[in-house]
Order: sequence, then C-alpha cells, then structure tokens
Amino acid sequence: MQFMVSEIFRSIQGESSYTGLPCTFVRLAGCNLRCRQCDTRYALEAGHEMSLDEILDRVSSLDSNLVEITGGEPLIQEGTPELTALLKQRGHRVLVETNGSLDISLLPEGVIRIMDIKCPASGESKQFMWENIWRLRDGDEVKFVISDRHDYEWARGIVRERFGRSRTEILFSTVFGELPPRNLVEWILEDRLSVRFQLQIHKYIWPHDARGV
Ligand code: SF4
Repeated sequence: MQFMVSEIFRSIQGESSYTGLPCTFVRLAGCNLRCRQCDTRYALEAGHEMSLDEILDRVSSLDSNLVEITGGEPLIQEGTPELTALLKQRGHRVLVETNGSLDISLLPEGVIRIMDIKCPASGESKQFMWENIWRLRDGDEVKFVISDRHDYEWARGIVRERFGRSRTEILFSTVFGELPPRNLVEWILEDRLSVRFQLQIHKYIWPHDARGV
C-alpha cells in the first residue's frame, strides 16, 4: 500500500486539547478543498511516495507516543484507515486532523478525530458533510478557525443549534494575522459560549509559515 507524503516530523502539538504535547506528525499530501487561508499549501499537491511500512518505521524512529495524521486531507488517501489502525496496534495515541468534508466513520474505533467545520471566509464551508456530526465519538474534537465577526456568528449558531447538549470538545481559534485573539476571547465571554479558545501555538513559537514544526 502506497501513500503520498508531504513530510513526517516530530514537534509539539500546536492545536486541540493535546496542545503542548510532543507529537509525531505524518503530513499526507493532497487535499480536496482549497481554503482561502490554507497554511499548508505546500502539501496540497506535491508529495513523495512511501509505503505503509516505511511510514511506520519512520514514526517509530521518532519515538513519540502521540501521532497525528494530518494534511492536506488525510481521508483522500485510501490507506489512511489502515495506517491509523496499525499505529493504534503499536500502542500510539492517534489523532487525525480532517477538514470534515469526507466520511469520518472510515476511521477505526479509538482513533481521535479533530474535525474542522470550515467557516464562510474559508470559501469552503458548503463542502462540510453534515452527517459527520452524528458520527462523532467520545474524545473527538470539532474545530472552527475564525476570520472575522461573520465567521464567529456563523460558528456560534452551529454550536448552539447542533452541539447544545453534546460533550464534544469545541475549539475556536483565529486565523493567524487576520483576527486579533483578544476579539474572539471577548466575543466568547460576552456570549457565555461553552467552547475552548485556542491559539495555534506553533505559529507563535516558529515563523508562521515554517514547515516541519
Ligand atoms: S482543508 Fe486544510 S489543507 Fe485543505 S485547503 Fe483547507 S486548510 Fe488547506
């Protein structure tokens, strides 16, 4: 089984409730969306071919319990469910970051899905697969990356309508360089919204367009 891989590296987790933990990232190449503010354009098309065993060996050599499969969009590659299952079997805690436009139920039990719901300013909000909300499991997380007040109000509406009684962790973050974090924090507090604010901390630690971090 072959994969198109953009990069594999060890860093710290910059987003989600796992923020700050050492993590090995497997960034698969290719994506079915073209978000306006995409911060991994280099992964949209280019990539090099690696076999399943080569990826597993590389992950093993980086020696991190936490592994995130990201992209691009990992679910466009047929072998992603098998890759995640094998990583689980080897004892890793496995996160998959997905853009929400493809069926997340393809991923095996025990794999944690960090699912984006793309906001209007991304230009891709209509691509979201709404059935995925019913496919969420305990431990999965949902992420909104917010550019402006309109995105915020849109996201707030979804949280209130669709996640009112849900135990799913909801993450709100800003598009780096577009919305001051303080504005988003103030809106969340004003509205008593039960979401977790987060900064994409890797963009504050390293240059915001750095690769492999
Ligand atoms: S889904 Fe992610 S990788 Fe794909 S275009 Fe959007 S931001 Fe970039």
